[in-house]
Formats: sequence, structure tokens, C-alpha cells
Amino acid sequence: MNNRTNTKKIKVGNITIGGKNDIVIQSMCNTKTEDVDSTVNQILELEKVGCELVRVTIPNEQAANNIELIKSKIHIPLIADIHFDYKLAIMSAERGIDKIRINPGNIGDENKVKQVVDICKSKNIPIRIGVNSGSVSKELIAKYGGRITDDAIIESLDNEIKILEKYGFNDIVISVKSSNVLSCINCYKKVAEKYAYPLHIGITEAGTLFSGTIKSSIGLGILINDGLGDTMRVSLSDSPIKEIKVAKQILETFGIRKEGIEIISCPTCGRTNIDIVKIANNIENRIDDLLAEGKIDKNLNIKVAIMGCAVNGPGEAREADIGIAGGNGEGLIFKKGEIIKKVKEDDLEVELINHIMEMKC
Ligand code: SF4
Repeated sequence: MNNRTNTKKIKVGNITIGGKNDIVIQSMCNTKTEDVDSTVNQILELEKVGCELVRVTIPNEQAANNIELIKSKIHIPLIADIHFDYKLAIMSAERGIDKIRINPGNIGDENKVKQVVDICKSKNIPIRIGVNSGSVSKELIAKYGGRITDDAIIESLDNEIKILEKYGFNDIVISVKSSNVLSCINCYKKVAEKYAYPLHIGITEAGTLFSGTIKSSIGLGILINDGLGDTMRVSLSDSPIKEIKVAKQILETFGIRKEGIEIISCPTCGRTNIDIVKIANNIENRIDDLLAEGKIDKNLNIKVAIMGCAVNGPGEAREADIGIAGGNGEGLIFKKGEIIKKVKEDDLEVELINHIMEMKC
């Protein structure tokens, strides 16, 4: 993996992004921000699974008015997602928002842009400019031959940045998301060469849990491997909780995050005589629940092996800190390289989880 790009450090609430700080995991609520209880409950759930920054949509004054109350009940920085309406940006800043996502080019009148910049400057609130393939202007599309090319996306970003820089505003975070993974990678690489502002990376409209996970893993994986990204969001047509789980898995794969428990499981084959697919999925979900409930220490850094048979199973299970190797309607439990128990298939999940819960950091 390449060295991390040294971007400008920017404070978002109590978190510093950029520089050589670790990539921060972000998600977005899919609740109505007008509904404080639902939004707060979802943010608290997101916090439990490892979300570090959260964005909410601010489509109207009622949503903006709820910012203080929402912030008083959560523990991570809150970002306002605003389109077009500068007054909502000003209201959000007045109510203590930690970051605003707005494209200044969409505000229109320069005096309105200046008012947003002035309040963000006075309250040290950074602004994320989020250009994506859908936000490129008709004029730029026409200039680039009627197509949304990577250069059109970059020029669109240049124009947005110029507006903020004209007013001396530099607490800028950039995203250039596209649903086309290769275009997205190309745009982020070009932007990283051109600007030192921190990058919020993501593949927009990536799709369902299945396709979105694959696209995000490839796209974000390549960028991370190139040392890019200061905050990241995995966008899925699914629960934001799953976005966090996928994001954490991507970072854990790179060894950037050590927290959590690594589970390896075999793909199963004709030798498998216990239901490894069910056992592996149940154990993964149970471990996630217990981590979220604080019943397993999140600093417990272990490898759990769930293997189907005694051919490759015990070898892998011994390599792991704890694991099972399936037999015929039963399985062996290994801990620190030793067989500790033979257990009936029906009891394997509970038995393994109990042993994991006893393990200390
Ligand atoms: Fe097949 Fe055993 Fe390998 Fe699993 S561990 S894929 S059951 S040989």
C-alpha cells in the first residue's frame, strides 16, 4: 500500500480529518431529520457499529431547527446535507452543525454564498463540495461533447472550489463521486494531484448490498491502496448500519483498522457434513451484536476460523486464535492451537461464542 497522501488537516467537530490521520468512516441517516427520535436512534445505532461521522439531510427549516436537539443526544460530529438553499446552511451553522455539504455553485447569488462562507468561517465549520456525475452543468456537458466526462467533473469541481477560495475560505473537503467505478477512481486521482484538500471518498449510487459492496470494495480499495481518502462512505441501497460494516471490513482488510474480530470461513465442498454457511453467518451476526452491546471487547483482536472438515479445517483452525473444524454432525473446537472440545453440530455456535466471550485482549 502506498503512503497516505498528506492532505490539509481540518477539524470536524471533535475529529481532525486529513493530514495523515486514519480514514474516518461516515454514513448518512435515511430517517427524516424532522423526526428527532428516529434520527437520534439511528445515529446511536450507527455509533455502536463504528460510525464516526454522520450526515443528515436538511431539506427545510424544521429539520434545521432540530440540529441542536439531535446533537445534544449523539456523540459523533453531525453534517448537514443541503441543496440550493443558503438560508438552511446559515440556520444549520447557527445551530451548531459540525460540517456542511453544499455546492456553492448551486446557491446562485454571490452575496448569498458570501453569507454562508462568513458564518462558516466565524464558527470554523468546514464545507464539503460534493461534485458527482449527476451534478455537472448542462454547459459543461455541452463543452465536453454532450457527455459527462471525467474532465467535465473535474472542471465542475474547479468552479465550485474557486467560488469558496474567492472569499478566502479553505476549510474545504472534496468529493467527486460517480457511479462508474473506473471514472470515480480516475477523478479522485486527478483531484489528489491538483488539490491538497482532504478527500471524502465513495462510489455514489453503488447499488444493493451485493453489487454496492463489490463496487465500493473495488473502487475504495484501489483509492485506499494509492494512499487516498480522508473520510469514506460506502453507499448502499440498504441499511446505513450495513454501510458501516462494509466500510470497516474494507479498512480491516488493509490492516488500517485492527478493531473487531476477523472471521475466516471455508467455502464448503463435498466434504462438508455440517451446515457451515449457516454457522458462519450466525456466528458473524452474533459477534457483531455482542460487540455492539459491549459484551465482547471491541479491542479483542482475534482470528476466528470456521472450517467444514478435518482435511483443511484443523490446520486453519489451529492457525487462528479460536475455531471449529466440522465432522459428521459434530465439530472440534480449537483454541490457541489445541483441541479443547468435541461438540454436537447444534451446539457449535453457542459453544464457540461462549469461548470467544471469555477471551481477553
Ligand atoms: Fe471442503 Fe474442508 Fe476445505 Fe471446507 S475446509 S472447503 S469442507 S476441504
